[in-house]
Amino acid sequence: MNDVLLLDGISKTYGKDGPAPVRVLQDLSLSVGRGEVVALVAPSGAGKSTLLHIAGLLDTPDTGRVVINERDMSGQRDRARTEARRRQLGFVYQFHHLLPEFTAAENIVLPQLANGVSDTAARARAADLLGRVGLAHRSEHRPAQMSGGEQQRVAFCRALANQPSLLLADEPTGNLDPATSDTVFDMLMTLVRETGLSALIATHNMELAGRMDRVIRLNEVA
Ligand code: ADP
Ligand code: MG
Repeated sequence: MNDVLLLDGISKTYGKDGPAPVRVLQDLSLSVGRGEVVALVAPSGAGKSTLLHIAGLLDTPDTGRVVINERDMSGQRDRARTEARRRQLGFVYQFHHLLPEFTAAENIVLPQLANGVSDTAARARAADLLGRVGLAHRSEHRPAQMSGGEQQRVAFCRALANQPSLLLADEPTGNLDPATSDTVFDMLMTLVRETGLSALIATHNMELAGRMDRVIRLNEVA
């Protein structure tokens, strides 16, 4: 199987040794195939963010394996996990988390420079990505000069800047009004399809989930 992501037997309890442990994930397994876009659907509090943090190597599970591009990352050192995160994974959150003192283009250029890409190549890629989401004319603007939907489109470009193989998105349009959410989500899907990216996208919007290849409900797999 050529999976980009495999989670195998993942369990996670917060505050395990304290007086009030919170059991969030229990023996959860799922996979995302190459080029596949999977919706992760569950109500608020069910563990979507926890699962995405574990898949994104930002947190560690109590049990189970996290396999990314056929490499088991569970027991790897921090350095290898950081490297995998920077080169193979792209992240989008509910709030854009763009750097406020930099322009849209610079926000997309900086992570590429951190990965050793030349300034010229990084700028060209930023311009190309901004063009794809209809923001070529806003490249020199800072996040505060943009609307919520525009900020989120820049965040998509930043997530794709280093050509990851897997996009992890945590309710990427959850902060937008329904009409904007629809358009912005379409742009994300187009971007993902055009680049052949694999994605795991958390949402509690069934309509959005229906536009993806497959839907995983958290309480069913847990
Ligand atoms: P979702 O993203 O689906 O809303 P989360 O993964 O954020 O769910 O949270 C799942 C559960 O774990 C919730 O009950 C939440 O309160 C709890 N939780 C999340 N993070 C922590 C933490 N650091 N410590 C204790 N409980 C947590
Ligand atoms: Mg969440």
